[in-house]
Amino acid sequence: MDINKNKNILIKVLIFTLFLPILISCSKKTIEPISKTEFVIGTICTIKIYDNRYEQILQKAFNRIKNIENKMSINTDKSEVLSISQKSGNSYVKVSDDTFHVIRKGKEYSIISNGNFDISIGPLVKLWGIGTDYAKVPSEEEIHSVLPLINYNNVLLDNTKKKVLLKEKDMLIDLGAIAKGYAADEASKILKSNGVEHAIINLGGNILTIGNNPNGSPWNIGIQNPFSARGNIIGSLKVIDKSIVTSGIYERYIENQEKKYHHILNPKTGYPYENDIAGITIITPSSLDADALSTITFSKGVSEGMSFIEDLQNVEAIFVTKEKDIYITSGLKDKFTLSDTNFKFKPN
Ligand code: FAD
Ligand code: MG
Repeated sequence: MDINKNKNILIKVLIFTLFLPILISCSKKTIEPISKTEFVIGTICTIKIYDNRYEQILQKAFNRIKNIENKMSINTDKSEVLSISQKSGNSYVKVSDDTFHVIRKGKEYSIISNGNFDISIGPLVKLWGIGTDYAKVPSEEEIHSVLPLINYNNVLLDNTKKKVLLKEKDMLIDLGAIAKGYAADEASKILKSNGVEHAIINLGGNILTIGNNPNGSPWNIGIQNPFSARGNIIGSLKVIDKSIVTSGIYERYIENQEKKYHHILNPKTGYPYENDIAGITIITPSSLDADALSTITFSKGVSEGMSFIEDLQNVEAIFVTKEKDIYITSGLKDKFTLSDTNFKFKPN
């Protein structure tokens, strides 16, 4: 009786051992995703789904992103954010839950950053026009004429009726540093509610991963080289269910008399922030948080930015300096691999 039992176990172990390599190779095989790319929110956006064959889900996610763009854009004729500005200095404007939520979070981040990040930066962003065909370096007078309009304390919120008032005439909210993150979070909700468990949402380099790679490993996400064209990476990062958002000096800038002016503006001086950072990548579950935090950390520079992020729960960061030095937060030690030898790791 016992001998038979042992025989059975031995046979099962043998079969399992024989088939194990096949099982492993199956689980590691690359799965081709379904994918869609469109130009929305002023940038190239791609969504890849790895475990679901319904193309309509991709369209639903893009429709949601376009819906958010229609409400929050300032690069158009009509949006809720523009309506708020049209009534600035005059009356409250009722907005959708989406717009109210993003403005409320934007105001919270403006407070947290002591105004280094300021959602009422619209008049200054319009003046510089970086990324548009009317981009120019404004005169001192022009800059000084718009600075008094930038003050997040003058963005008043009626939480019950979801209404917004800009206290001074000609104020303008700009959600460019936060709304792409919200759009990625909302696209992710659409995918998940349709049963998707493995996907990558990429809104112009603002990445949100759903689950892990279907081969069982974490996703391996490339970190952009801040000194070269999109797609050139300095290394890669292993993540599951995380957003990875970069703010940098490399994509949106104008050049005047050999000087480069990038698009992250200091609301106190009216000019782009100048510090040691070339690119800062934030890694955290919510893409809205990652987006806002990437802009805020950029404004702080490496040293202050590092202590700011280390004090936050479940937020990690990769700093790339203008000297090509790399600093990473403590939680990334075994997750980030540097592949470009022109860059070097620095201890914190
Ligand atoms: P981030 O660091 O996340 O944000 C920088 C952006 O935030 C700046 O470009 C500026 O808009 C704003 N900003 C600058 N300084 C500050 C500050 N101190 N505090 C707060 N905010 C600041 N771009 C186009 O060219 N054409 C379009 O039609 C267009 N439409 C858009 C519609 C929407 C709804 C959104 C959200 C963005 C749109 N954009 C458009 C902008 C573009 O896609 C990016 O959002 C923008 O370039 C910044 O993204 P980022 O992640 O590179 O930088
Ligand atoms: Mg941002």
